[in-house]
Amino acid sequence: MNRWRIGMLVLLLPVLLAVKRPAGLGDVADVRTWSYEDYTRVVVELTRPVGETEVKRLTANRKAGRPERLYLDLPRVWVGRDYEAGIPIQDGLLEGVRLGQNTLTTSRLVIDLERYARHRLLVLRAPHRVVVDVYGPRKKNDREPRGVPNTRLSIPLRRIQTVVVDPGHGGKDPGAIGVGGLREKDVNLRLSKMLGERLENLGFNVVFTRKNDRFLSLEERTVIAEAARGDLFISVHANASTRRGTRGIEIYSLDENHERHSLEVAARENGVSRSEVDSLQRAMAKLHVHENSEHSVALANAVHGQLLPGLRRKYKSVPDLGVKKGPFYVLFLSSMPAILLESGFLTNKYDARLLRSDSYLQAMADHVAEGLKDYRSQSRQLASTGAAE
Ligand SMILES: [Zn+2]
Repeated sequence: MNRWRIGMLVLLLPVLLAVKRPAGLGDVADVRTWSYEDYTRVVVELTRPVGETEVKRLTANRKAGRPERLYLDLPRVWVGRDYEAGIPIQDGLLEGVRLGQNTLTTSRLVIDLERYARHRLLVLRAPHRVVVDVYGPRKKNDREPRGVPNTRLSIPLRRIQTVVVDPGHGGKDPGAIGVGGLREKDVNLRLSKMLGERLENLGFNVVFTRKNDRFLSLEERTVIAEAARGDLFISVHANASTRRGTRGIEIYSLDENHERHSLEVAARENGVSRSEVDSLQRAMAKLHVHENSEHSVALANAVHGQLLPGLRRKYKSVPDLGVKKGPFYVLFLSSMPAILLESGFLTNKYDARLLRSDSYLQAMADHVAEGLKDYRSQSRQLASTGAAE
């Protein structure tokens, strides 16, 4: 036993004493955390893609004074130090996070827990990052927890109360620029505000990701949605095309599969290249997002069923580009039924004229809100025919 230990020590000595950084490893560029009641997101940004990784859970080690914790290895990442200096969080859910060099070529992220119910891991690109969402236990008599694996009825059985309205882009990111310099971020915000007001009139609780012209990362948008315990998420955008003649309305739900055209839209709305969208799709395929996307498709169909016929009563020629599927970060990062609305083509002169008009935007907002109301009644019916509640 002793000899073995000495042998190990000799083996470890060169590593511990002369830690030379091996070539070709990436660095940790940033660690960000967002804390809310019962929900914390930890994001580790890296300078290169991380290898295969998964989150593991360790029970508390009272002897060593270690709390219950989660950890994940980051292969081919260098931090070059021990775990001691951590980042304290102490938000009632997480004690803190620590990063250390676990082997010569692998770093490890340790999340010390105070309370814990479940977590999920997302590995994303552009920039390369790992996102760990940690959820705390809910209070008794609270609504059904969402996103629990293999409980497919958990979403329709929950009462739909809170809608998160997400006006796309903002601040330094204008989104698409259209005819006469019409900026997507402005159209998105105007339409979103009208939609929010209409939804409140229909008895929904509305949470906006932004209410003014400011920049938000996709992570921040979805962190707001998670923290608000949103039941539905709608991201509001406007389209662009190099073909000036293209116009019409598209509604997207999240899916790792996509139709050809949606790859371009996804790349633009994600702010990444088309090849980055491919790797996102692979990540999504691994996470089986389709389990949640069934509800998102129903939501997209409900909105589509009201929006197009509703608008056409007054605006006869609005083309219907249909309900589509696409790999969108902003939908991927939220754990509730989520859709992305492309309200029209800013690059088309007819659509741009409509999108400049408050009465048109108001009509859109009214009909989208009616669609969400339809979805809410469908879910209520499902809930009343279901076994629980
Ligand atoms: Zn957009």
